[in-house]
Amino acid sequence: MSVVRPFAPGGDYRWKDVELLRYKTDGSVPFKDVTRQVLFDDPSIAAQLRYFEVSPGGYSTLERHEHAHAVLILRGRGRVLVGSEVHAVGQNDLVSIPSLTWHQFRPAAGESLGFLCMVNSERDRPQLPSAEDLAGLRRDPKIAAFLDA
Ligand code: MN
Repeated sequence: MSVVRPFAPGGDYRWKDVELLRYKTDGSVPFKDVTRQVLFDDPSIAAQLRYFEVSPGGYSTLERHEHAHAVLILRGRGRVLVGSEVHAVGQNDLVSIPSLTWHQFRPAAGESLGFLCMVNSERDRPQLPSAEDLAGLRRDPKIAAFLDA
């Protein structure tokens, strides 16, 4: 593997010799129009750095898990649900997603939203909201509006 892998060799949001992957391999998990690139995956660090990109009109999975996420927005603008708050985010904003906190990323209309996400290589599987969890989230009108956008 090269020490330096140039950015955007073909003009798109890719890194040289980094494979463009499906966001998730489990087809039963809800999401729309998201890709994944694993930028660093080194057992000696025990962390992975991934780049996710959500296309216009797409969204990441609404989920929570014990592991935390450290996120840096790299491309575009959008909104993120973290717990009970919806935040507008844009390029270079940092987002910390605490343990066991519901979260979802959605791009602004007509834009792609790309972000780096650092995680522990050993991590628990995401939990999806139950019908009861969803009903609870939707009781807050701003969260309902976010989920229906
Ligand atoms: Mn997550």
